[in-house]
Amino acid sequence: MLTKLKERKVTYTNPIFNTMTEEEIISFQEDLLRKQLKYVYRNAEYYRRIFHEAGAYPEDIRTIADFQQLPIFMDKAIERNSQQESMERLGHPFGMHLCSSPDEIVFTGTTSGTSGVPTFTYTFTKEDIDFLNRYIRHMLDYGGIDAGDRLLFSHALGIYATSSILFGVRSHSVLPIDVDVRAGSKSILQYAMMSKPKGAMMTPSLAEHLIDRAAELGRDVRELGLQAIFTVGEIGVGVPEIKKRIEDSYGCRIYDYLGELGYSCDSEEYYGIHCVAPDLNLFPNDLVDPETKAPLKISDGVIGERVTTELSLKGLPRIRYATGDVIQVLTSECPGCGFKGRRVKFIGRSDDMLIVKGANVYPSAIKKVVANFIPDLTGELRIVLTNPPPRVVPPLQIKLEYSSQLDKGKLGELERKIKNALHTEARLTPEIIWCEPGTLEKALTKTPLFEKNY
Ligand SMILES: [Zn+2]
Repeated sequence: MLTKLKERKVTYTNPIFNTMTEEEIISFQEDLLRKQLKYVYRNAEYYRRIFHEAGAYPEDIRTIADFQQLPIFMDKAIERNSQQESMERLGHPFGMHLCSSPDEIVFTGTTSGTSGVPTFTYTFTKEDIDFLNRYIRHMLDYGGIDAGDRLLFSHALGIYATSSILFGVRSHSVLPIDVDVRAGSKSILQYAMMSKPKGAMMTPSLAEHLIDRAAELGRDVRELGLQAIFTVGEIGVGVPEIKKRIEDSYGCRIYDYLGELGYSCDSEEYYGIHCVAPDLNLFPNDLVDPETKAPLKISDGVIGERVTTELSLKGLPRIRYATGDVIQVLTSECPGCGFKGRRVKFIGRSDDMLIVKGANVYPSAIKKVVANFIPDLTGELRIVLTNPPPRVVPPLQIKLEYSSQLDKGKLGELERKIKNALHTEARLTPEIIWCEPGTLEKALTKTPLFEKNY
């Protein structure tokens, strides 16, 4: 059993929200929304165009409900076109939705999209960075990382979005030991063993991978003496077995976070990301149906696609931007820490969604069921697609890797149990293809979910 660092409630980054009701917070957000819409309309040709096409003016939008009557302004593909246009017409790659002058931009971070064309989605002015840093400091503080501490930071460095987090780390007077994930796990472990960081930031898959790599090198990740690991991306920490394995192996607490928008609390159980920044983003009060993009009513447990609207950023604010992230919004008080604001759990990516016999299936749901069978399984899996998604001709084929500890005579029994669990928990009747331990490649950043045989 781990000792809790701080037996306390997650608070909003901006303390004024701590005494507000949810209605008052929404009213505050609507005020920021009205100002932001006027700002983007005034400053970016793209947003003026969108309003004109919709036959509306920023002044027409008073409430979130009014705002949701407007179409989706942007998604990854539209953003890419907007960038193409600004490269051709204005000579910069940020897009026609850039609201500041290009020379005011001090950071740009891309995401490693699957299409191969990077999008400069995370493009900030100095003022934006100062604003965002507060959220990182707030999270580090909650996780017990203080000025003077060191923090292992192992993501893809450089032009990638995660690099923006480093400003926040440094502004908290914490020294990042920033080892590019591409340096490899041996190198990451070496730097960590030498520098004795108090905390670490990485993906859950890297945290898991380092446990195995350290053991291969005759070491133990517990020797690192970490007190907190902050993970971003993937469903990892939302799976109880993965959270437990990481916490038990490192002997520390793990926090799941989503950019500057929020993080999970100190509870033993995972209660989702606590949305601590209502002044930064309208999220999660704007949720749409992933297929029709029709607005969904926010209620406890509702599932839909996250639409992002940045309420306070000035450089390249995203407005009514469909992210493709399918999330569950929880409006009830956190049973763990008592936080009264919104919480969200990541369900999957709308573009990863499969349709099996008319039902929507997210690979993350399969991963969650499969993780219950660790250590009989390694937890690695691939979903084999024989024709282009989302429609799958049943049975869905899943490749699973049994672990080296498993007595192979028990494989049949294990298969029956896994099929039962997938049937009850994900309404699936799959075909399981067994793989020898270590034959499914494990990536340090994003492990592929699908094996495409078409
Ligand atoms: Zn909580």
